[in-house]
Order: sequence, then C-alpha cells, then structure tokens
Amino acid sequence: MSDTLKAIPPGSTIGIIGGGQLGRMTAVAASQLGYRVHVFTPEHDSPTEHVADAATIAAYDDQDAIEAFGQTVDVVTFEFENVPAETVRHLEAIVPVRPSWECLAVAQDRIAEKTFCNELGIETAPWKSVESAEELAIAIEEIGAPAILKTTRLGYDGKGQVRIKPNTDPAQAWKDLNGGPAILEGFVDFELEVSVITARNAQGQMKSFDVVENRHKDGILDVTIAPADISGTLAMKACTIGRQMIEKLDLVGLLAVEMFITKDGHVLVNEMAPRPHNSGHWTQDGCTTSQFEQFVRAVTNLPLGSTVRHSDTVMINLLGEDALKWEEHLSVPENKLHLYGKAEAKPGRKMGHINHLYPKGSQPKG
Ligand code: AMP
Repeated sequence: MSDTLKAIPPGSTIGIIGGGQLGRMTAVAASQLGYRVHVFTPEHDSPTEHVADAATIAAYDDQDAIEAFGQTVDVVTFEFENVPAETVRHLEAIVPVRPSWECLAVAQDRIAEKTFCNELGIETAPWKSVESAEELAIAIEEIGAPAILKTTRLGYDGKGQVRIKPNTDPAQAWKDLNGGPAILEGFVDFELEVSVITARNAQGQMKSFDVVENRHKDGILDVTIAPADISGTLAMKACTIGRQMIEKLDLVGLLAVEMFITKDGHVLVNEMAPRPHNSGHWTQDGCTTSQFEQFVRAVTNLPLGSTVRHSDTVMINLLGEDALKWEEHLSVPENKLHLYGKAEAKPGRKMGHINHLYPKGSQPKG
C-alpha cells in the first residue's frame, strides 16, 4: 500500500493550523480517537490551544516556524484556510498536508473559486472581476444593480463587502471597499440559503451530511436548520454539487459549500470552505458522526463514519453577550450548549452555539 493510502494511526499527532473554535472542536474529536494535537496559531490563549497537547505561536507567513512545526507532527490540516498557499506548498515536502495547497489556493480567492465552479458547469451568481472604480462602473452597467462588491480575498462573515444599489456611486463604493481586487456579484433573490458538507478520505471514500438551511443576520450565520425543508430533488442536486467539487479538487478532508436556492429551483454556489464549517455544528448532536470526527477520520485516512441524522436539529450561534446567558440556555433540556472558552464577549464575536434537538421528523416548519 502506498504511504498516502495508509491510515495515520491513533497515537499520532495531528497538526492544526489556526487556533479558533473549529480547531478546538476538531482537537476534542481527535482526542476522542486517541490522537494528539499540535496547534499552530499566531495568538496566545486561543480556543484550540486550551485543548491541544502542544502549541506553536507564530505568524502564518513565518516559513521557518511552519516548517519546524511540520517536523513535529504526522499530518497537517487547517481550521483556517487563509494561510499563504506558497507556505503550505513548502510544508508538503516535510509532512502530508490535507487538504493540499492547491485546494486552499482555490478556496482563498473568489475569482478562482467561481471560475472553478463555472468550469464544472455549476451555476453561481453572475460575476465580474473588478480592479478599479472605473472597472466597477462598467461591471455595474453589465451586471446591473442591486449587486454586491466583494474583495477577492480574506472576506468572511460578510466582511469586505459593499452593497451596490441602483443609485450607488461606483467611486464611493470602491472607496468604501477599502482595497481591491474585488468581484462584483449580481444580487440573488434567493428563496433560501443552504449548505452541504462532504467528507473525503485519501482512498476517495466520500460521505455527505444532510443539506441544511442557513439564516444569516448582518452577514453572520445566525441559525442552521437541519434538515433543510426542500424537495428531495433539490437536496440531491445540492449534494451532487458538493461531491462533484470535492472530487474535482481531489480534496482530502471536508468541503463545505454554501448555496442559494432560487425561487425557480436553481442551485447557485455562493462560496466554499475546505474545513469544518459553522453550518455543520448541528452534526455534533444530531448525527452519528460529527463533522469534526469525520474531518479527523478523513485527514488520517480512517474509514468515514455514518452521517445518519438521528435528530432534527436547530443550531443557534451565540454571539457576544448571548453566551453569558448560559444558565438560561442550559435550563432547556433539549439544548446542547457548546462554548468556545473565549475570554472577551465582544459584540458579533462567535462565543458558542446551541444545538436544540427534536425527535427526527418532528421539527416545526418555518
Ligand atoms: P459571503 O461572505 O459571500 O458568504 O456572504 C455572506 C452572506 O451575504 C451570504 O450568506 C448571503 O446571505 C449574503 N449574500 C452574499 N452574496 C450574495 C448575493 N450575490 N446575493 C444575495 N445575497 C448574498
């Protein structure tokens, strides 16, 4: 058996780049399977460090520190994908890196991501790349308004975005974006937003979780409803898109794909993340295998676990001071509370989440 197809056995050390809550929950799942975790993060006292066996605190572009970290672990993965792809490429000479730097490079750049989808025949919102106020004015002519101007890199939770209305001045919008390059995206009048998370191990075994509905507030995920109240045909379409994308990328790990479902039944990809995703937190309590355990299984090349949903689940994000009401949240017996151990409850900061469980098939609609 070639080395890439061998399982990385329990007892080995998984290196996680990124120190946030996704790394924390991955580390807990890894620990349950008998792995050790070494986190690489620029911040001291991070949610992942609290539960990891070892931590390297250094900048993401510190090539020497990343390589030294690579020497101490058996496989490297990410809970944060905006690490310079070039740094990751060098790391691959030292240790298996899953997903690969090529997958990160596609996910880091909205132009690469949308081109990748469109070349696969997967629909997205109409879009155009824009590098100046002049180009923006032309793109608005072409795509029309309303539209959204988004930076091509480093946007998350609605950051790095400017809404374009019919009367918006392109020069002002370009200024408000505060730095390009960018893309202009047509505004999708969607019926609902959904996402699907697919796992794939190095042997090519794939499994998807149920398609879920996501509701956002101020550009940040507020609530995930599992399963999404959509037809079987649409769910199948969304699932097929996730599988097509992960296979074409030859991605080992997890791929979360966020999509819009339009009123006339089109499924448009909005964006993807090559890692566990906030819209998959419900799986911790609603499924046989959580997204975090599945992630660990995929990157260590263990057999993937069952993704069967045993409970309908509504996941509610706790932002800022919402998390301080833990007593109230815990007083509802069907709530499972997850807190990330962050010291400061800043407004809009993801501090934790609740998975509220319903017996399968009994979740209220709407
Ligand atoms: P993003 O950072 O691209 O995931 O955008 C954050 C949220 O903004 C999405 O989940 C949608 O609710 C909304 N949004 C982004 N792009 C569009 C679009 N082209 N049309 C309508 N809503 C959008």
